Amino acid sequence: MLEPLADLLLGACCPGCGRPGGGLCPHCLEAVRPRPRVIVDGPPPVLACLPYRDPLPALVTAYKDRGAGWLGDQLAAWLAVGLAAAVAAAQTPVTLVPMPSDRAAVRRRGADHCADLVTAASGLCGLPRGSVQQLLRRTRRVRDQIQVGHEERAANQAGSMRADPYSPGSPDPGSGQRPVVLIDDIRTTGASLDEGVRALEAAGHRILVCLVLADAEHPARWA
Ligand SMILES: [Zn+2]
Repeated sequence: MLEPLADLLLGACCPGCGRPGGGLCPHCLEAVRPRPRVIVDGPPPVLACLPYRDPLPALVTAYKDRGAGWLGDQLAAWLAVGLAAAVAAAQTPVTLVPMPSDRAAVRRRGADHCADLVTAASGLCGLPRGSVQQLLRRTRRVRDQIQVGHEERAANQAGSMRADPYSPGSPDPGSGQRPVVLIDDIRTTGASLDEGVRALEAAGHRILVCLVLADAEHPARWA
């Protein structure tokens, strides 16, 4: 009963901290400042835009599960800061691959949020249409990582994805193999990113870097 009521009220208060007023308040905007940094050396390295700390968890929940789709523009703008850094470092055209969402979650939420954020961030960075390719698919359902213990997460994800095979003739013949930037929203233990990397490499793709909006694993690095 309480949740629908909270959803109704969400439009009238900041989704990050609950302060009255529409939209994201100045306190929350000030608290979230993208500072892209490498959190895992790799290969492939993992670049994160932000730490996963308040108010970001509340914003991500509001965006994904509480119908605050308007937050997508802001989340994409934060992701675009890291994407711009990754693209500048690449010095070559790249293919952006969003991590695949669980099909049941996409049906429930009415959107594929990771793909939507990647597409919006790509546009903000001025990358050509067609840069985003959903090369990864889930081949079986996995349990929600939040419900799985840390030590079980790799086993939960293992073998759960497949990638479309690399095809040298597309999308632009003669350019050689376009390296991939694999993109996810939140990284916790890295088990799902590792599975995405495995599936892409098994299909012949070269992964330049993994990019995540937020890092939940290394809070001390963001102090
Ligand atoms: Zn706020």
